[in-house]
Amino acid sequence: MTNENPNPSTPQQAAPAPAGGPARGPAAGPRRPFGRRHFAPRRKVCRLCAEKIHTIDYKQSQLLKTFCTDTGKILSRRITGACAKHQRQITRAIKINRNLAIMPYKG
Ligand SMILES: [Zn+2]
Repeated sequence: MTNENPNPSTPQQAAPAPAGGPARGPAAGPRRPFGRRHFAPRRKVCRLCAEKIHTIDYKQSQLLKTFCTDTGKILSRRITGACAKHQRQITRAIKINRNLAIMPYKG
């Protein structure tokens, strides 16, 4: 009982890799001639720590709006530079305000 199975359903896909592609030439120049310029890294300071605001209340909606986009999204720490402690307070206060319809969820 030697049942040879040729197994035709396995196509050997050997895609020939294109050799090189279009040659760029040796004089490609700098990587990003018109890319973003390099600025000196500026150390971000938490605005609320600098103003010595220890706790954020949900009623301070004017302050909280500065940590939101126009569409109502909460800005990240990377953008605002807030410290972790204050960012947690900001997000909680904004979410309370959204629930109270003081600040928008969207739009
Ligand atoms: Zn802070």
